Amino acid sequence: MHPADTMGQSRKGAEYGFAFLDEDAKRELRRSIFKAVCIPGHQVPYASREMPIARGFGTGGMQLTLALLGPQDCVKVIDQGADDSVNAANIRNFFALTCPGVTGTLRTEEASVIQTRHRIPELPLRANQILVFQVPYPDPLVVVEPNAATRRRMHGRADYARLWVKLYEDMVAFDEITISHRYPTRINGHYIIDPSPIPRWDVPKLHQAECLYLFGAGREKRIYAVPPHTDAVPITFNDVPFRVEDFTDRKIGKRHVCRRCGADDSFLDEFLNDDGARVFQCSDAAHCDMRLERLEAAE
Ligand SMILES: [Zn+2]
Repeated sequence: MHPADTMGQSRKGAEYGFAFLDEDAKRELRRSIFKAVCIPGHQVPYASREMPIARGFGTGGMQLTLALLGPQDCVKVIDQGADDSVNAANIRNFFALTCPGVTGTLRTEEASVIQTRHRIPELPLRANQILVFQVPYPDPLVVVEPNAATRRRMHGRADYARLWVKLYEDMVAFDEITISHRYPTRINGHYIIDPSPIPRWDVPKLHQAECLYLFGAGREKRIYAVPPHTDAVPITFNDVPFRVEDFTDRKIGKRHVCRRCGADDSFLDEFLNDDGARVFQCSDAAHCDMRLERLEAAE
């Protein structure tokens, strides 16, 4: 049955058990989550279930979120920092439909579980919050080794030599490491993970965080985790420091600021306005709204 069939208020929630998945599926997901937390950065295989959306649209993240949610939870869903994109809004509606009692929110600080695609919120997350990533490609070694069994052996031995060579080739060809998203990051001194397509800006937030980070790849059937207070170090060379995105306007030598809230310390999206001019705006919509509210209250 398609969830669109049940969107009418009279039938709302009637056709599903709590959180859509059957209890066996949720139990298996929770066991896999425990294992992922116990072995930080290790990709734990699991039986990814069919969801009422196509794989590649966040089914891995959805399954994790559904296994975590209880009736007391408050859930937030973001896509590239925005709560109102089609993907995020529909996933949030799906949780509202299938998880009676769970409230939805747009505010980062209110949520107990946040499902995200491609961003980590600007506001530092607390110990009682979980961030669930939708992951397209869980294995950072896939760019250097096509065979899955060989990749698993390489991970077990922490044999990442070919990944280093790839970075070195980048340095030779472009004078810098050109990976902008999915930056390979070493967890707890052993496994290297693909942190999903977050910008470099977000990678340092994985390191020694208060919250639990969970990664779900539905199509590839893998779950992995960065637990709280765990080292997460982007791999680089001693003489080539890791850098995050730089929003300096080269012409005036000053950093671009958000056109809505004026923030000069957030990750910015760049686009063209109606006049064809380049403008910048916070990528994290909730962060931008919160700053605007504070500015208005202070006036
Ligand atoms: Zn802003």
